[in-house]
Amino acid sequence: MKRNTWQREAVREALDDTEGFISAQALHSTLHASGSPIGLATVYRALGDLASSGDADSLQSPDGEALYRACSTTGHHHHLICRNCGLTVEIAADEVEAWAKSVAAEHGFTGAAHVVDVFGLCENCTRLQSAGEQREHS
Ligand SMILES: [Zn+2]
Ligand SMILES: [Zn+2]
Ligand SMILES: [Zn+2]
Repeated sequence: MKRNTWQREAVREALDDTEGFISAQALHSTLHASGSPIGLATVYRALGDLASSGDADSLQSPDGEALYRACSTTGHHHHLICRNCGLTVEIAADEVEAWAKSVAAEHGFTGAAHVVDVFGLCENCTRLQSAGEQREHS
C-alpha cells in the first residue's frame, strides 16, 4: 500500500540529518520548525514504516520511549548507545546470535528475532563525569 510518500520522505530526510537517536516527538518539532505541516501521528507512522523496512533503527530508551535513527549498517546488528550524549556504535554480536538461535531451538521456537542494545556511558562522557566528580571532592 502506497500512502503519504512525501511525508515518509520528509521524515526520512529529517532522520538522516539527525545525529544519534531521536524520539518521534523531537523529530516532529524539528520538521515543524523547518516549516513542514506534517502531523505527529504521521511522523509516528512513517518512523514505524522506516523501521520495519530496515531503513531506520529503532530502540526503546531505558525510560521506555521509542527512539529512531537512520542506520548506516544494513542487515541485523546491535548498538552500544551512550545514555548521556547519544553516541551510537554499531556492533556485531556473534555470541548473541548463537545464543538466541540455540535458546529458541531448545524451546521449539522458529523464526525467532531479537533486539539487543547496550546502554552505557561512552569514553568521553565517562571522562567528563569523573572530572566533574573530582572537582566536587576537592
Ligand atoms: Zn544500526
Ligand atoms: Zn557520551
Ligand atoms: Zn543479534
